[in-house]
Amino acid sequence: MGAATTYQLARRGVNVIGIDRFTPPHDQGSSHGDTRITRLALGEGAQYLPFARRSHEIWRELEAATGRTLFRQTGGLVFSSLEGRSPAHGNTDFLQTTIGVARRHHIPHEVLDASTMARRFPQFRFAGDETGCFEPSAGLVHPEACIAAQLELAREMGARLITQTQVRRWQADGSGVVIETDSGRVRADRLVITAGAWLPDLVPELRPLTRICRQVLYWFDLDHSTQAFESEDMPVFIRVPDSRADMFYGFPAVNGKQGGLKIATEQFSTTCEPDHVNRTVTPAEAQAMHELASPHVRILPRLLRSAVCKYTITSDFHFLIDRHPESPNIWLASACSGHGFKHSAAIGEALAQQVTQGRSDCDLCAFTIQARPLC
Ligand SMILES: Cc1cc2nc3c(=O)[nH]c(=O)nc-3n(C[C@H](O)[C@H](O)[C@H](O)COP(=O)(O)OP(=O)(O)OC[C@H]3O[C@@H](n4cnc5c(N)ncnc54)[C@H](O)[C@@H]3O)c2cc1C
Repeated sequence: MGAATTYQLARRGVNVIGIDRFTPPHDQGSSHGDTRITRLALGEGAQYLPFARRSHEIWRELEAATGRTLFRQTGGLVFSSLEGRSPAHGNTDFLQTTIGVARRHHIPHEVLDASTMARRFPQFRFAGDETGCFEPSAGLVHPEACIAAQLELAREMGARLITQTQVRRWQADGSGVVIETDSGRVRADRLVITAGAWLPDLVPELRPLTRICRQVLYWFDLDHSTQAFESEDMPVFIRVPDSRADMFYGFPAVNGKQGGLKIATEQFSTTCEPDHVNRTVTPAEAQAMHELASPHVRILPRLLRSAVCKYTITSDFHFLIDRHPESPNIWLASACSGHGFKHSAAIGEALAQQVTQGRSDCDLCAFTIQARPLC
């Protein structure tokens, strides 16, 4: 969110400074691990559609400007067994909402039964009672490359990037804001806070609205002699939970034959502090992930790699994008509840528009602090 905002402000000719306590892209926050799913048929609700659509355009603009590959349109498959409802990301019926958003907003998609999915997507195993929604416009973005591209362009356009520097506090006054960092003070007309899991350190009033949950990413080995798992052959996927299995999601093998297939589930029962996240992934955790996913996707038991990441969630899984309640010169965007990266380029643009014009093309009304219940 910070890289996108810095880039969008710089391209508007604003004298912008981006400050980060690490050197982005890095693996200490919520934006690492090679890939993020992006889709337009959003099971989280149609209020996110303008962000996702606009972000797809911005990823392509950034690719043209930098020559980097940022967005791979692999198609996306959201599927679940017909039994029971399929809750995910705060939505009680994620699959049906996905299909409903696709229908209402004319997003090309196909609703598929299990036998059709088994024929088209041999990388998976289907029990026979699943329904799926295949969206050709879905795919994956490479988060580290997206961040690097935006920061590179922002710097070329005159932005000053201050890294390895922690913001300790800020103080708004009538004419602007003073930002205290561990290497000195910065005076600015406006401040945009995109601190991810650390948001409550800088805006303590928001602590009751958010929780931090440790999440693990796993890369499992594949038997390439039986199927093709590369991004030309396989879509990104979300296996929405039902009575048979918890939710998990995954990606084609973007790092080639040796890179394995990345999958992950989500957990919301254990919270943590952003600076004290257990980064050790145990063999028991890897085994549990394999047991959950292998009945549905053809992975082998050997774990090639793992990474720990964190979700900053609100109780309803919707984002916080708003002006600070007491300081009109301060904007904040965070708590993207495990589904924010796909929207980040457009959220950065909306924040830049708010800061420079007082309005944005994407409507932010659904994301106000006031609308978020306590966590
Ligand atoms: C495992 C996992 C899987 C995900 N999968 C998907 C997906 O498939 N699709 C999708 O769309 N989204 C996904 N998400 C969500 C998405 O990645 C996040 O919503 C998004 O990347 C969060 O970006 P952010 O800028 O808010 O946070 P971050 O990337 O964590 O950035 C916050 C930044 O603020 C800096 N900072 C914090 N405090 C200070 C301070 N005091 N001073 C200076 N700097 C500070 C940090 O160093 C950091 O660089 C996933 C997230 C995780 C963890």
